Amino acid sequence: MRKYDLIIVGAGIIGTFCAYHALKRGKTVLLLEKDSLPFEASFRNFGQAVPSGQSLPLWFEYGRKSLKIYKDLQENTDISLVKNGSWYYASDDQEMTLLEEIHQLFTERNYTNKLYTAQECLDINPSLKKDYVKGGLFFPEEASLNPLVMVHRVREFLIQYMGLHYQPLCSVISIEKKRGIAKIHSAHGQAFWSDKVILASGRDTQFLFPDLFAQADLKISKLQMMRLIPQKRAFKSNILTGLTIRRYESFHSCPSFHKLETSAEQKLLQEHGIHILFKQADDGSIILGDSHSYVPAHHQANFGFEISTEINEMMLNEAKRILHVESWDVESTWAGYYLQANKSDIFTKTLDDVIHVINGIGGKGMTTSPGFTAEYIQKLY
Ligand SMILES: Cc1cc2nc3c(=O)[nH]c(=O)nc-3n(C[C@H](O)[C@H](O)[C@H](O)COP(=O)(O)OP(=O)(O)OC[C@H]3O[C@@H](n4cnc5c(N)ncnc54)[C@H](O)[C@@H]3O)c2cc1C
Repeated sequence: MRKYDLIIVGAGIIGTFCAYHALKRGKTVLLLEKDSLPFEASFRNFGQAVPSGQSLPLWFEYGRKSLKIYKDLQENTDISLVKNGSWYYASDDQEMTLLEEIHQLFTERNYTNKLYTAQECLDINPSLKKDYVKGGLFFPEEASLNPLVMVHRVREFLIQYMGLHYQPLCSVISIEKKRGIAKIHSAHGQAFWSDKVILASGRDTQFLFPDLFAQADLKISKLQMMRLIPQKRAFKSNILTGLTIRRYESFHSCPSFHKLETSAEQKLLQEHGIHILFKQADDGSIILGDSHSYVPAHHQANFGFEISTEINEMMLNEAKRILHVESWDVESTWAGYYLQANKSDIFTKTLDDVIHVINGIGGKGMTTSPGFTAEYIQKLY
């Protein structure tokens, strides 16, 4: 019987970066994944690493630390990191005030950012619509990653150079403490042993510790996304827009946030959790999203299985107010899901001293997981 220092269940971004930090500490690590290739939230997202959108100070700092970890990894292997910066564009005076206030907050934290007038934004990005933009704020340190490849490449690097043991097609069906250590069973009848287990299973909460998840204050979010057909380069940075300024956590720290007034049109979009982000991929396709709808964690069936064309239309109509692009033809559309803690930033729980649950990181996993898991693993050892 081989015993590992740490077994991690779930090869999404949380599981993979827990493995990275534990391996760096010289631990023996086995990563178990139920699918032949993991393909949940960590692989179907925007891939924007935007610490500027995270709640201050803690999650912003995890985001900042994550950028550094991504950069270090990129120096060793191509994980698809591109330091292309993030633009926030305000669409009215209230949003512009929030940009001015957050500019102050981030400048005090020595986080490089620069305010631009509407004309300067239009000069820098001719794809922007004149009627939309009232001004902008740019964060040059921020980055984007290709979610289709990033976590896979990190995992391959860990296997090849850091001694990670990895087993795909391995659905874990039980985890228990036996004789002071953890015993893990797979659906194929295999048994594994380790001193500690991390359970980072994302939205699948119905198989392992279902009562724990049912009682935890968690909801699941369904996001709709679209990809427009490849076209000539329209912009190179991440683009975040007025409704994003009204939505992202960092802006809640601005003095004017609670005075925001909302128009009927904005309210309608907000009811579907819509805010518009754009990213142009290497092949010229434009990724556009997103919307958010919510149900309690153990009621996923309430989402049904359809992509709402009405929601996609609403997103496209709002997007058309913001940018000129060559074509609005949609190449593909998909839904992604993540678990989110209702009243806290993440859900963590330790069971029987040896089983450590990490879940509910919500919509900030690509931005903050490397930094968050660094601290988590440090506390674990
Ligand atoms: C559409 C969309 C856009 C997003 N955009 C961004 C963005 O631009 N920036 C950002 O910061 N964040 C973004 N996010 C959020 C980010 O993707 C998530 O926070 C993050 O991926 C969650 O990672 P995770 O490891 O917790 O879960 P997951 O990626 O879901 O990984 C969990 C893994 O566990 C496996 N698993 C489950 N049960 C078992 C079992 N019993 N045995 C073995 N394996 C198991 C699953 O197969 C899965 O591979 C977005 C999310 C979505 C859906």
